[in-house]
Amino acid sequence: MAKIIVIGGGVAGLSAGIYAKMSGHDVTVYEAHTVAGGNLTGWQRGPYHIDNCVHWLTGTNRKTETYKMWERLGALGSTGVYEPQSLYTYYEDGQSVSLYRDINKFEKQLLSLSPGDEKATKALINAVNGAAFLCGLCGQNFRGLFELYKCTRMSTGELADRFRHPLIRGFLSSFLTDGFSAAALVFVFASFCYGNADLPRGGSKAMAERMTNRFIYLGGRLCTGTEVRELIHGKRTAGAVLLSDGTVDFADHFIITTDLLSYKSLTGKPLPDRFLKLYNDKRLKKFSSVHFAFACSAPLSFKGDLLLRLDKELSDGLGAEYIALREFSHEPGFAPDGETVLQAFFFCGEQSCRDFIIMSDNNSLYENKKKQLYEAVYAFIVKTFPELSGKLKLIDMWTPATYKRYTDSGSGTYMSFAFSAGFIPKRLNNRADGFDNVFFATQWLQPPGGLPIAASAGRDAIKTINRIEKLKIKNSALREGAPLNP
Ligand SMILES: Cc1cc2nc3c(=O)[nH]c(=O)nc-3n(C[C@H](O)[C@H](O)[C@H](O)COP(=O)(O)OP(=O)(O)OC[C@H]3O[C@@H](n4cnc5c(N)ncnc54)[C@H](O)[C@@H]3O)c2cc1C
Repeated sequence: MAKIIVIGGGVAGLSAGIYAKMSGHDVTVYEAHTVAGGNLTGWQRGPYHIDNCVHWLTGTNRKTETYKMWERLGALGSTGVYEPQSLYTYYEDGQSVSLYRDINKFEKQLLSLSPGDEKATKALINAVNGAAFLCGLCGQNFRGLFELYKCTRMSTGELADRFRHPLIRGFLSSFLTDGFSAAALVFVFASFCYGNADLPRGGSKAMAERMTNRFIYLGGRLCTGTEVRELIHGKRTAGAVLLSDGTVDFADHFIITTDLLSYKSLTGKPLPDRFLKLYNDKRLKKFSSVHFAFACSAPLSFKGDLLLRLDKELSDGLGAEYIALREFSHEPGFAPDGETVLQAFFFCGEQSCRDFIIMSDNNSLYENKKKQLYEAVYAFIVKTFPELSGKLKLIDMWTPATYKRYTDSGSGTYMSFAFSAGFIPKRLNNRADGFDNVFFATQWLQPPGGLPIAASAGRDAIKTINRIEKLKIKNSALREGAPLNP
């Protein structure tokens, strides 16, 4: 048994903590915030609950290894998952296209909307089936693998350009935005259509609480409201952490689950080149979003997530082409009877994220910007859905600066990197270069990040530590001349 300190109590940190306990280690998770969960979170505003994470949770299909991981982490609880019938709907000029759970219904919808796009539709459906086969969700599909391979070479925008119908083009471009690899989009479609991307019951915060409870139930020590200021180390070995309350805690192994950019401030060493390369790779982009939550007292004419194209003027003003609306009628506890929470958000690129962070240093400038954005977004929603006029009350608004403040992510982001066409994401080695006992477990090890990548990074860090500990036992047994396999 080793003593392990985990820096950060997001999903990666909680996962590392739970797997450490299941492997018999003594483990402490230090989390700067008052609650664990990191980006997997939600909060109350009066009687309204604001859910701010899961749109789809990969790994809800029982056949998959990821499902088994979520089970071990206690993430899904005993109540099962909510299975939406559609992941998102794209709406333009009174017409809409939805990504249905039923892939045949989805295909029929595209074909009836645009018979001239039959070839492109068949290729898309084949690619989705190819991705599902690779994920172990359906049987062999070689034609599908070929179409999927083609998708790895193109962006979502290029995939959209294969279609003639503008609505289908908008549908494909709007979800992850234009520049993302088309393969990433196809994998999301495959996960959803094969029941592997549903929603945790109770929302994001409930999922984080279940993981936290599981960690504590297993005997893990969680110290919230405690920031790790420094990793105290010698030449190759770290020995302790210096905490925000001025105390020091010692351990045999240390796991860093924060944004890798905080490595320098924690260790005083530069971030190793192999990670810097990732941050400087032009094919990888950082992004975040600006969010609005409204209390809504009128019935909505749509369900789930709705994507809309912004008109030119608003698009130029916000620096975004699309806006997403999200409703939560599947979670009646999120709002009082007869009301609902309606969220709106739009994506912003790295420069815009930095601008928000800088602006947030000047309170009146920042608040003015937020007010201006709110007015523009409110006017757009009410123009699109006149029945909502006077029925929406802003209850909260947050920006990349909020993410920066909340999780200390370098540029106010909450996923790792969006990757463009031709980039094949792979997991980077989790050993901290130059250290014998420091490991990384974070979504930043593998684009595009997200919950399964964070959780599996936590699990893998413990696997690495277990190997090291086993080797130590073997070596000491060899030194003492004990038989290894009696
Ligand atoms: C709006 C939104 C929608 C999303 N949608 C999805 C989705 O649909 N599906 C999906 O898979 N993912 C989604 N994500 C992404 C997902 O939430 C993240 O990928 C995941 O939570 C990252 O987990 P993490 O543990 O790697 O990092 P984080 O969540 O950033 O956790 C790091 C933790 O470390 C703490 N910390 C930082 N520095 C220190 C320090 N010095 N000392 C102590 N603690 C420290 C932070 O407070 C934080 O709690 C979404 C995120 C957001 C915000």
